[in-house]
Amino acid sequence: MNAPDLSCATDLPADRSACAARDAADPLARFRAAFDLPEGLIYLDGNSLGPLPRAAATRIEAVVRQEWGAGLIRSWNDAGWIDLPGRVGDRIAGLIGAAPGSVTAGDSTSINLYKALNAALSLMPQPTGRSVILSDTGNFPTDLYVAQGLCAASGGRLHLRTVAPEALAGSVDGDTAVVMATHVDFRTGRMHDMQAVTRAAHAAGAAMVWDLAHSAGAVPLDLAASGAECAVGCGYKYLNGGPGAPAFIYVRPDLQDRVPPALSGWMGHAAPFDFTPDYRPAAGIRRQQVGTPPILSLSALDAALEVWADVDMAALRRKSLALSDLFIALVERDCAGFGLRLVTPRDHGQRGSQASFACPADLGGGYPVMQALIDAGVIGDFRAPDLLRFGFTPLYLRHVDVWDAVDRLRQILETRRWDDPRFHARAAVT
Ligand SMILES: *Cc1c(COP(=O)(O)O)cnc(C)c1O
Repeated sequence: MNAPDLSCATDLPADRSACAARDAADPLARFRAAFDLPEGLIYLDGNSLGPLPRAAATRIEAVVRQEWGAGLIRSWNDAGWIDLPGRVGDRIAGLIGAAPGSVTAGDSTSINLYKALNAALSLMPQPTGRSVILSDTGNFPTDLYVAQGLCAASGGRLHLRTVAPEALAGSVDGDTAVVMATHVDFRTGRMHDMQAVTRAAHAAGAAMVWDLAHSAGAVPLDLAASGAECAVGCGYKYLNGGPGAPAFIYVRPDLQDRVPPALSGWMGHAAPFDFTPDYRPAAGIRRQQVGTPPILSLSALDAALEVWADVDMAALRRKSLALSDLFIALVERDCAGFGLRLVTPRDHGQRGSQASFACPADLGGGYPVMQALIDAGVIGDFRAPDLLRFGFTPLYLRHVDVWDAVDRLRQILETRRWDDPRFHARAAVT
């Protein structure tokens, strides 16, 4: 992807009203009204759980009262419930650069990754001497855990190898069966070059599986052009589908009928309502479905995706970089001297839609700083061991939000308000 030409880092607004002027000229400003955001709150955690789209609340109410309450079981046909995974999949396909019919929504990202890894492994010509699933140390733990479980179940045939993120493309070799990578690193926001890594995998004869959890709805993607065999991603982050929203899986169209589904459930059967004793996979992406789709949460995700129908992804990307550039520049200017260290790439071509700062030990390692910030109405999150993480979601964030967030962070650091015992107690979810 070409980095848009932006130089906001050297073009700091003089004051808050200069930020407001940027907001007034923002072509994406109208999308903020599509979200039900608590008054006065600055939400910099849409990369972890997207906020409530108004359309999702309306839809859930209608699905519960009319489709479920009144329609009952008839709604599988009458309300089109049975085809909802594919319809939601098609909406997601439009956001990730994939063709209609190549994505289905359902299950969690972890489960879809299990399916995708198996699908990719099944494509190796047999017998294969290739025994390595190659990934990087920046990958999200569940991805590594799923791969570890798959290797353990292989009885020693497969093993997981992780290398530094920068070394990934250069580490693919003749032993690599599958390269499994998360496009945007959840900790640092570093973004892999999708086309280059996929090319390296294919040049060495390996298959490519992308995890787009921090990319779908965050950055423009051209998944089909990469030629990657499979991809997965998350519904509750930038897509705003709600807590535990269904995830998605992509299989390259020419491979869909070649890969035996790893989880051969009845919803992936060619004719589930024939109730025959033997499994026969459906054609196309539908064979990646497993069990009965979760209609309530799929409906919420479907409504959340309606918001995206007329979003210009190039404009989204420009604003995402403008917001993260502004945040980084303001933190480095106004919070200088407290030892915060940017771990997100400054290079636009390598940055997703977040900014993370490592905290020194004398700021309590960062956890209490984030708790104090949340208490002050700015929600970001903390990622162990020492990261303050902030997501930039252009559909509802404004330049003034960035200005205000950094101002509150500065006050917390200057007054040491974070060093209150109530901010040090760790909650179960950070
Ligand atoms: C958020 C995230 C997940 C979440 O997986 P679930 O199974 O939905 O809990 C997986 N992988 C990555 C890279 C993520 O960022």
